[in-house]
Amino acid sequence: MNIIIATHNYGKLSEMNFLFKEFIPETYNINLLSLNKYTDIPEVLEDGSTFQANAEKKALFTANYTGEMVIADDSGLVVDALNGEPGIFSSRYAGENATDEENNEKLLEKLNNVSKDSRTAHFVCVIAIAMPNNLLGTFEGRCNGIMGTTPKGDNGFGYDPLFIRTDTGKTFAELPHDVKNRISHRMHAFEKAAASIENNIKLMEQKL
Ligand code: IMP
Repeated sequence: MNIIIATHNYGKLSEMNFLFKEFIPETYNINLLSLNKYTDIPEVLEDGSTFQANAEKKALFTANYTGEMVIADDSGLVVDALNGEPGIFSSRYAGENATDEENNEKLLEKLNNVSKDSRTAHFVCVIAIAMPNNLLGTFEGRCNGIMGTTPKGDNGFGYDPLFIRTDTGKTFAELPHDVKNRISHRMHAFEKAAASIENNIKLMEQKL
């Protein structure tokens, strides 16, 4: 039985693989694939105005294209002092093909005069699950923190070097992968999605 994690983002993919193993029993005979197997698949235009709309679009498009069950996530960083920026534009904050470093630089510039107390932010992750022509559900997770003033740490991806969890005092990029994966927005979304994923696996098993 194939399940596709619909992302080209390596950081996201490795976290989703980790979470799948954490939450879905190994007893199922699942072949967990990424989009790397589908080199011709067109890029989904993320033109929704919410994380949920974009996650749903990615999940349904990928399920229809591949004919498989799909888990997609749309996620991003919401900074209070910037009225929610970068939000749904997180991956392309500094431009269409911006690198993580460029996005982080732009964010730091925008937060230049913002005091520590006002640098509150949260990550959002919406996971959408779909079969061809059938959206099975969407599940949202959040994680609160504050934005640092210089990038710190080499783990993770995206805004991880700037995002400080107040309980640990460390950026996500300073935490070992498994520690981030047990407290992150993606973990909270996956935890909620797990029952629905497992139910659908059972339904697919019955059809085999
Ligand atoms: P998406 O691929 O359109 O969902 O964009 C996700 C973007 O949000 C990433 O490219 C990162 O910039 C940011 N992002 C989402 N989740 C995380 C995370 O766990 N750590 C750091 N940045 C993240």
